[in-house]
Amino acid sequence: MIYPIITIPDKVLRKKSDAVDKVDGEILSILENMAETMYAAPGIGLAAIQVGITKRLVVIDCEHSEEKKKSPLYMANPEIVWTSRELSVYKEGCLSIPEFYEEIERPSECRVKYLDKKNKVKFLDCDGLLATCVQHEIDHLDGKLFIDYLSRLKRTSIEKKFIKQYKQKA
Ligand SMILES: [Zn+2]
Repeated sequence: MIYPIITIPDKVLRKKSDAVDKVDGEILSILENMAETMYAAPGIGLAAIQVGITKRLVVIDCEHSEEKKKSPLYMANPEIVWTSRELSVYKEGCLSIPEFYEEIERPSECRVKYLDKKNKVKFLDCDGLLATCVQHEIDHLDGKLFIDYLSRLKRTSIEKKFIKQYKQKA
């Protein structure tokens, strides 16, 4: 099932998501639907709040290509437990802020702790695009968007653009 994706300026995106008690059948089916939604978009990561579900759930697949089989990473209650002092810059985008890309600086490596699809505690060391993607998605669970890292001027201008589009649709 493909969920509709929520875009700015919807205030839902600013909500803090709640931890899940455990990864059971119900949570797993949400994760599977989220993965389907992410691939259809297409995108490389999706947080549950982007489809209006206030649970700490994330799906990521930074490596998917036409030739490679889809193997989404399912994460429940993901938490960054370590970040490198070294930073790197990626041009980020977000399914909730369509067609807007900007360079963002974040720790270049991180370690994330999460519950996997079998409800097992896992740790994953991330670098490159995956490290950026994990940090971007976990920010969503705290109501944070990548445009929050931009200068106030840039952020306000992109927000205004979306508010205008939103009003035109309404
Ligand atoms: Zn995003």
